[in-house]
Amino acid sequence: MPQKLLKSAQYIELGSYQYWPVIVPRGIRLYTYEQIPGFLRENPYITDGYRAYLTSRLCIKSLLILSNETVNIWSHLLGFLMFLTLALHDMTTILPATGASREDYVIHAIGLFCFQVCMLCSVGYHLFCCHRSEKTSRRWMALDYAGISIGILGCYVPGVFYAFYCNNYWRQVYLVAVLAMTLAVFLAQIHPLYLSKQWQRIRSVIFCSVAGYGLIPTMHWVWLSGGIHSEVVQAFVPRVLVMYVIAAAAFLFYVSKVPERYFPGQLNYLGASHQLWHMLVVLMFYWWHQSVLFITDYRHSHPCANHPLHA
Ligand SMILES: [Zn+2]
Repeated sequence: MPQKLLKSAQYIELGSYQYWPVIVPRGIRLYTYEQIPGFLRENPYITDGYRAYLTSRLCIKSLLILSNETVNIWSHLLGFLMFLTLALHDMTTILPATGASREDYVIHAIGLFCFQVCMLCSVGYHLFCCHRSEKTSRRWMALDYAGISIGILGCYVPGVFYAFYCNNYWRQVYLVAVLAMTLAVFLAQIHPLYLSKQWQRIRSVIFCSVAGYGLIPTMHWVWLSGGIHSEVVQAFVPRVLVMYVIAAAAFLFYVSKVPERYFPGQLNYLGASHQLWHMLVVLMFYWWHQSVLFITDYRHSHPCANHPLHA
């Protein structure tokens, strides 16, 4: 290792060069996979750059250092700021211009609020997972999972509301179903084994079921709207499918630990699967937000009475 030129600097490996100096505040150091406590060992292909054994204050301070969580934290912190900005922009500019009703404001606000909560829960987890107390770390992890459910809810509520805009009965049925499903997932998360490694597969199944459930109201809505050749279906269904493609890609990175599986130790700081998952989640929410604006505009310009089956 080169002589320590910088006080309180540590050296990290990035690309093929092993001695990039990073300045870290006193009390924080980076650890290898073997050195971290068991509850932080989730991905053996990320071999270095771990923060560990930190107090809450040092966790917050670590926001500004380069660790293997830096991209995870900042991707969703910036995501939060983006959805906050979009919410303000929608409420002050976009919705007033479309002659939105009070209901429109409420539904758009719910969607964007859920996305922001999801982003903040994730930031909290990735910032505080390295807490010296395992209990604290686990609590933040539970909050991260709860945040994902809230983010999915933020997709469902405006989606169901505008898809079944002209069919109050089915709109209420699916909104209640989605709320009940989210509540059921929250209750499952209280189970003491929910965050354990044994339940990893069950967690994935629950997540896929909650996300995949949306295909049921989608197909029902296509049928109620007069089949795949109707105008509203042709306009909106491709957007739903693109969202599912993004979600599936995000989930595949999440569970497969690709690409770091093939380059162990080389993607510790940049390019790891969890970072891709984070960015795809932001992209998916953004895509859905744009799609909701699109269908809101469609509903305002196509009054329900003109629609053949009132779907
Ligand atoms: Zn994450």
